[in-house]
Formats: sequence, structure tokens, C-alpha cells
Amino acid sequence: MNLILLGPPGAGKGTQAIMLTDRFGIPQISTGEILRSAVKEETPMGVKAKSFMDAGALVPDAVVIGIVLERLQKADCKPGFILDGFPRTVAQADALKDNLRDLEKDLTAVLALEVDNDALVERLTGRRTCRQCGRGYHLKFDPPRTAGQCDVCGGELYQRDDDREETIRKRMEVYDSQTTPLVDYYQQQGLLTRINGMQEISVVQEKILATLRTF
Ligand code: ADP
Ligand code: ADP
Ligand code: ZN
Repeated sequence: MNLILLGPPGAGKGTQAIMLTDRFGIPQISTGEILRSAVKEETPMGVKAKSFMDAGALVPDAVVIGIVLERLQKADCKPGFILDGFPRTVAQADALKDNLRDLEKDLTAVLALEVDNDALVERLTGRRTCRQCGRGYHLKFDPPRTAGQCDVCGGELYQRDDDREETIRKRMEVYDSQTTPLVDYYQQQGLLTRINGMQEISVVQEKILATLRTF
């Protein structure tokens, strides 16, 4: 099963991807997560990406495309993958299409999570992220069992620099201008399923699983 989770920042892509990964045993490929690790490790790519990420802008296509094409070659992607946060531009979607053709893989579905702007701001300002494994929590909607600590790995939870209101607004604008065209792009290819992302986490998960059962 080869899936794309599409949706604005805070729509619930990461949250749903982790649940799907656990259920189907296929990897989550989060470009945001890979980039944040590179920033933390101060690799040349991380150093380059940091200023774009801090500003709420997109990292250049060539960098992100390179990350994903390399990742898709790995053996664990054989039974399937869940792309979370990629593609975000038409150029990225075109590159993915060419690469999947070369790898003789097809996309199963593109799940578009739809959430109102006000809810996105509330979700992102309350989001806390594990410094160690990258898992996301929410102070109100998905709190960890112990405050400030990751349920999975015990890592420290922190607020991402770009999860502050000013940068959030900028990221939402970037999504509207650069990523929304992908909704039509995948609709035209007959791959798009819209999911109402305004419901509780478990209900959204149910809706996704019900959709996947139809494939
Ligand atoms: P994305 O990966 O799309 O940016 P996340 O999965 O990180 O989004 O979710 C953003 C924030 O909203 C997180 O704090 C998460 O716990 C919370 N969240 C995710 N899905 C829901 C939901 N259905 N209802 C309420 N909060 C949610
Ligand atoms: P969210 O789901 O909350 O928007 P991500 O973790 O997916 O956040 O992405 C964080 C940041 O990493 C983005 O604002 C952008 O700077 C960069 N990034 C992640 N994925 C991509 C991508 N596919 N193309 C360009 N930049 C990306
Ligand atoms: Zn963790």
C-alpha cells in the first residue's frame, strides 16, 4: 500500500501516519522529520534547510526530492510506504511520479485531510514534539501520559520553533499557494480521497481505515 497523506500543517498527517505504520507495518516517510534530524545533526543539508524551515518557507525542491527518492529505494519500502508532508509542490509530485514509474510502483491513494484554519492554529500552538523520536502530542487533544515526556521513548517534549503563531500563519499561506494545487492534481488522476479531519483522532483513523478497505 503506497499512500500519500496530504493536508495543511496541523491537519493530523503525522498523527495518522504513525497509527497506519503501526497497523500495516509500512514506514512513515516524513520529510519534515528527516529535515529536523538533519538540522539537529548539523549536516550540510540541515544547515542549508534550517533558514527556510525557521521562516516557515519550503525547503528547495531539489533537496527534498533527493531525500525522498533515496528513501524510497530502501528495502523497508517494498511492502509499501506512507508519505507524510511530501509532495508539497507540483514539481515534487511530478518527480515522485517519474520515480515511482522507474521503481514500478503505483500510488494506492492520496488521502487529503481537511481541517479549518482556526482549528489548525489551535492544534499547532498546542502541539508538542518528542526531541528524540519526533512523535507529536497535543497539550489538550492528545496529551502524553506523563507531562513533558514521550510515551514511546521517554524523550523530552518541546515546542517546535515553527509552531509559533507568526510562523504558523506563514506556513498556512505557503500551503495555500504552493500545495493546494496538488488536490486538483491528484483528483484528476483519480487518486484523491477527501477525509474530514475535524473529527477526533480515533474517528479520523476509522474513516481512513474504512476508505482503505475499499481499495
Ligand atoms: P501534521 O503532521 O499534519 O502537521 P500532526 O499530526 O502533527 O499534524 O497534528 C497537529 C497537532 O494536532 C498535534 O498536536 C496533534 O496531536 C493534534 N491532532 C492531530 N489530529 C487531531 C484531531 N483529529 N483532533 C485534534 N487534534 C489533533
Ligand atoms: P507540518 O506538517 O507541521 O507542516 P512538517 O514537519 O511536514 O510540518 O514540515 C516542517 C518544515 O519542513 C516545512 O515548513 C518546510 O520548511 C520543511 N519541509 C517539510 N517537507 C517539505 C517538502 N516536501 N518540501 C519543502 N519543504 C518541506
Ligand atoms: Zn519519543
